Amino acid sequence: MKETLEILRSLPSVDEILKTGDAQKWLEKYPRRFVIKAIREGIDAKRHEIFEEPKTESAYDLTESIMSVAFKRLSSFTSFRLKPVINATGVVIHTNLGRSPLSKKVLENIVSVASGYSNLEYDLETGKRGKRYTHVVSLLKELTGAEDAVIVNNNAAAVLLCLSSLAKGREVIVSRGELVEIGGSFRIPDIMVQSGSVLREVGTTNKTHLYDYEKAIHENTGMFLKVHQSNYRMIGFTEEVSIEDLVRLARKHSIPVMVDLGSGCFVDLKTYGIHSEPMVQDIVKKEVDIITLSGDKLLGGPQGGVIIGKKRYIEFIQKHPLMRAMRVDKFTLSAFEATLMEYADTDRASRNIPTLKMLFQDRTIIKKRAKRIVLRLRKRTASTDITLSKDSSQAGGGSLPEAEFPTYVVSIKPHTMSVNALEKRLRSASTPVIGRIKEESLLLDARTIMDDQIEPLVDAIINASEL
Ligand SMILES: *Cc1c(COP(=O)(O)O)cnc(C)c1O
Repeated sequence: MKETLEILRSLPSVDEILKTGDAQKWLEKYPRRFVIKAIREGIDAKRHEIFEEPKTESAYDLTESIMSVAFKRLSSFTSFRLKPVINATGVVIHTNLGRSPLSKKVLENIVSVASGYSNLEYDLETGKRGKRYTHVVSLLKELTGAEDAVIVNNNAAAVLLCLSSLAKGREVIVSRGELVEIGGSFRIPDIMVQSGSVLREVGTTNKTHLYDYEKAIHENTGMFLKVHQSNYRMIGFTEEVSIEDLVRLARKHSIPVMVDLGSGCFVDLKTYGIHSEPMVQDIVKKEVDIITLSGDKLLGGPQGGVIIGKKRYIEFIQKHPLMRAMRVDKFTLSAFEATLMEYADTDRASRNIPTLKMLFQDRTIIKKRAKRIVLRLRKRTASTDITLSKDSSQAGGGSLPEAEFPTYVVSIKPHTMSVNALEKRLRSASTPVIGRIKEESLLLDARTIMDDQIEPLVDAIINASEL
């Protein structure tokens, strides 16, 4: 014990370490508070080590080993925690990985609007105060055929706002088959409680008929709500009421109809063999009063909640106090405008919006990319089995759950470590790589790997495979 105390006494102080040449260099480059915190943690780590295993070291060695720990801590304190990752999961709209990536063009528009002042709420024609939503509203009207539109922070906010402003204190009739929970705790019954409206469930889990809605109508009915089932599908003995039938019934009783589309798509997916997802434009044509959808799911834009529909309802919604609490900033609006502009020509949208491009890219392109990765890896390592194989990707984000997206994956089977160890190492790479484990292999889906990520991906795998 006496020996341990003596060794502990030989530990340098923070001040002594700060005087070293290396620490002086750190101070020039990094904030002082992080340098001091890192050195302190370096000394603490050494102190623990001495307690565990007391051994005498020269003053030079002590300082060296403290500095080496401190530098690692300093690098971690001063690097951003939110950072790019390589999505090799094949899930295109991956909510945990930031959903839709934005194109260069969209990013350029954000930079040009946000790096200086803009006419966010200024009418350049009259020189008076303008409205922050006018910039995107005309495009939304043009593209969807809706009478009016507005944008809030996300689709969950859009649903809450619409229910709060149109149905507070009144009953909202929803089919039991549509009382869904979307990932990340968005649950229709809970949102309804928050909005102050009263849920009136009708039908059964698998079957809801028009007469179920009709029987539930009384003087306090505030709305019919139809919710897209998003991430789940019912198969077999099922029945739901079509939007057309619901709108017809609603008109007879002067009840507004709202449809929460969730993802919402502006391009015709039938050309890609997907028949389950109607276009937003077609739903507008069915005379639905209010439609809500996400900005960063199939639309491929920034996070946001798009509300489109009849002018009188949108105007009413905009007057609700929650509207101010949910308002979007100039980043979102500039990104939305640039994204929506691409939809003026749907072919261009499919080419230029990363989410759509990734979902519908030609399989030969995915194969080529996967092959490039395989060849590069084989050139640089012999310690792993690397093969190209067929697999299937997913749209993700609760979109198109039953659609098949045939793809190619790079399958890696390490010889010198477990596949779990490799997966973990790749997650902690400087540009983390997120793949998925299937049996004893790590699969990297080439669909969601971007071309300019191939080099960092290969480097990360080589680094991670080294012992
Ligand atoms: C995704 C989704 C939401 C929530 O949208 P966010 O943009 O994630 O807030 C709401 N309703 C449905 C049906 C959805 O699919």
